[in-house]
Amino acid sequence: MSDQEPRSYVVRTFGCQMNDHDSERISGLLDADGLLAVEEEDDADVVVLNTCCIRENADNKLYGNLGMLKRWKDAREGRQIVVSGCLAQKDRDIVQKRAPWVDVVMGTHNVHRAAELLETARIDGPLTEILEEAVLDDHAMFPSALPAKRVTSYDAWVTIQIGCDNSCAFCIVPSVRGSEISRPYDDIVSEVRALADQGVTEVTLLGQNVNSYGRDLQLDKRRAGEDVSARPLFSELLREVGTVAGIKRVRFTSPHPKDMRPETFAVMAEVPTICEHLHYPLQSGSDRLLAIMHRGYNAERYLEKLHQARQLIPDLAISTDIIVGFPGETEEDFVRTLEVSAEADYDYAYTFMFSPREGTEAATMEDQFVDPAVVADRFARLRVVVEHSAVIRHEARIGRIEDVLIEGPSRRNPEVYQARTRQNKVVHFRPKNAIRAGSYGLVEITEAAPHHLRGILREVTSDPSHKVRIPVASM
Ligand code: SF4
Repeated sequence: MSDQEPRSYVVRTFGCQMNDHDSERISGLLDADGLLAVEEEDDADVVVLNTCCIRENADNKLYGNLGMLKRWKDAREGRQIVVSGCLAQKDRDIVQKRAPWVDVVMGTHNVHRAAELLETARIDGPLTEILEEAVLDDHAMFPSALPAKRVTSYDAWVTIQIGCDNSCAFCIVPSVRGSEISRPYDDIVSEVRALADQGVTEVTLLGQNVNSYGRDLQLDKRRAGEDVSARPLFSELLREVGTVAGIKRVRFTSPHPKDMRPETFAVMAEVPTICEHLHYPLQSGSDRLLAIMHRGYNAERYLEKLHQARQLIPDLAISTDIIVGFPGETEEDFVRTLEVSAEADYDYAYTFMFSPREGTEAATMEDQFVDPAVVADRFARLRVVVEHSAVIRHEARIGRIEDVLIEGPSRRNPEVYQARTRQNKVVHFRPKNAIRAGSYGLVEITEAAPHHLRGILREVTSDPSHKVRIPVASM
């Protein structure tokens, strides 16, 4: 998978329901800023302690927690700690005097500034901001003033695995996340059932190398002498999650091409809720570079599986990640990337110009770095190829009626709504009346562009039933 993953956060709430509510707003703002909510500090880049000063011993508890969080922060570069809530409001500068490793101290009236303060602290260093009274602007009215996707839960990410056992030369994940650990199977299924009970209809199973899910669990069982199914656990999980009552769409990201198994394609073809979209990272079309990157497949094998997937799963959309200008990339290597991309006929591609990440093998290959002007030129040439196939594949959808999940009004123009097809393609349309985010509908496709489709809403087929609340861990 790509190592361009979002930062993650966890909010710990102390005290009363008002604090719970503030935590929901903080979570919503961080979501809106592109951060991903996680359950555990170990998986997070940001920890927010939303404090309460009413309970006995609240000060000691806070500073005790901050002492533990110093070790958490020191364990990984870039981690940030936020202290909010009434104890922060009360203690003000004292918090950073007693715990100078805290990045942001904000009061009870600064909730709407959470994401901005976090980013400012990232650039300028630790800060304290306490407002004396509430600021009544659009953001303070959150969550209703923000697009519903950011604050509600008709869709949900479900982490099924952490860490990565691979060693892609450009990726920092294995050294910072450690070995792959799969979450217990039953826990995942229970979480999806609970989400469905709350009205979630779309889930995305998430892992660094999502399709190797369960390898460690099966190995442990074999070591313990248990009889283990030969079938990969990921395909089993996909099938079970896909049949949870109330779940209408299942996605997963990101799979690794070398671990792609026919059983996964079979389940995708058989279970109607599993969306016809496969993110299938190529990285390079050159066998020589794929070997240097330690990707574990060559272009022929990659394409073979891709064609197999398209044969088995009708109307499958395929997206990818490609790095241009990996150290030592020759014109010949790059031309192979163009050729493989053209043959893959992608629906869309995330293309990246190589940039070294400290701590990765590729960052040590300085003597082979490609001239930035050459990289920029290749990048532009690759865009032409991937956008060409995207437009052709999108144009082929004109006139079709697509089943879409409606995400709500677009940020730029509230009259235009955004929805997503089962193939994960963005569709824009202008409804006659307001429609709740999380509704499903049928849209006739009328226009195509490289990155989205446009259409006319024919019918709303179902209304959402999710509750407008972000689950936040309470302490
Ligand atoms: S498979 Fe693992 S090492 Fe390779 S890019 Fe994905 S997270 Fe990084």
